[in-house]
Amino acid sequence: MFSRPTLVLTLLLAASATAQPAPKPALTRTLVRAGHLLDVKTGKVLDAETVVVAGDTIQSIAPSASVQAQPSDIVIDLGALTVLPGLIDVHTHLTGNPDFDPYRELTTTTAKEAINGVANARTTLMAGITSVRNVGAGGYSDVDLRDAINAGQVPGPHMLVSGPPLGITGGHCDENLLPSGYHAVGDGVADGIAAVQHMVRQNIKYGADVIKICATGGVLSKGDDPQASQYTLEEMQAIVADAHRLGRKVAAHAHGAQGILWATEAGVDSIEHGSYINDEDIAAMKQRGTYLVPTLYLEDWIIESGHLPVFYRQKMVDVSAVAKGNIKRAMQAGVKIAMGTDAAVYPHGLNAHELDVYVNQLGMAPLDALQTATINAADLMGWTAKTGTLEAGKWADIIAVQKSPLDDIRTLQDVKFVMKAGVVYKNDSK
Ligand SMILES: [Zn+2]
Repeated sequence: MFSRPTLVLTLLLAASATAQPAPKPALTRTLVRAGHLLDVKTGKVLDAETVVVAGDTIQSIAPSASVQAQPSDIVIDLGALTVLPGLIDVHTHLTGNPDFDPYRELTTTTAKEAINGVANARTTLMAGITSVRNVGAGGYSDVDLRDAINAGQVPGPHMLVSGPPLGITGGHCDENLLPSGYHAVGDGVADGIAAVQHMVRQNIKYGADVIKICATGGVLSKGDDPQASQYTLEEMQAIVADAHRLGRKVAAHAHGAQGILWATEAGVDSIEHGSYINDEDIAAMKQRGTYLVPTLYLEDWIIESGHLPVFYRQKMVDVSAVAKGNIKRAMQAGVKIAMGTDAAVYPHGLNAHELDVYVNQLGMAPLDALQTATINAADLMGWTAKTGTLEAGKWADIIAVQKSPLDDIRTLQDVKFVMKAGVVYKNDSK
């Protein structure tokens, strides 16, 4: 006897076996005419190139003179602008906004986070960030945001999302603003091997693409020390083993040197922040190929514009005093870098300011800086086949700016044209 679902499936299979395949409708081509085209692999700039886009994908790239427009083509002439791949930010919190008032922070519901996310995803995309890794959100609001973007309900970048970050009781990823009578606990709090395994599995169950953990204390959290390790080596080994077995990478928030080392030894894929990184950490990360995701522009922004409560302020002063020097040594030593910003700590859309810090404060070559936000970031996300360069077969994620970023990295702070997956979201080229 067939059960009903099996019968339906059998009939469908029989029908599809005999039916002719439906003819695929020809996709409308879009020709993006670029005055200049920057190859982020080599730093070479070619003049008068055309990117041929079909559907959400780059079909080919060739000298404009050799690409004749067909009557059915859409032609976008970007004049003298410089065209390059959309940028990638591997450390955002799109569902959060800068607000350091602890009482307002406590009033943030999951619904509010989702609403924030809708606005911030759009702002981020318009700034030329066509992909993000979102590392920490409440109530799986990031999962719903990612799905709404993918379904075309709201504009935003391609997203990999983590759901709630895992952390120890009383740690950076717990909620420490209220006394014990309120029983407030962060969504991702888990202590001990069995509990962290459960939380990894739960986050994956509810839609996480990546696992975010808090390996050490943090700056914008009450009562903890950025230099103190929080998860033990054994807990992080259990997290990484489960995450990797289930096909997810692990991003570890880590400021202190011991926590960076333990997280690296446990096999995490990226260290976020890395403020107190030392020679031992640098050697271990180089040996394992662990990415470092510095988030440095936020220090400049907070010092200029932020109003921190007293229990965050001294920690920010202490971390800011050492982080740039330490990160610079890691960069010079050849640790792999991917651009992350921690946007939400400062207003969304300022993401490209991070690259200005790398180049104009830490002395990184402009091409290397550009690669942190393209090729390297795509590699860390596992998306090398999809984005990070302009090549046939990848997503048509294309931006354009007024000058070559190799001459002036700040030109990326004023993106004139944004296409994501073949759809134009912004065109201020005229
Ligand atoms: Zn963060």
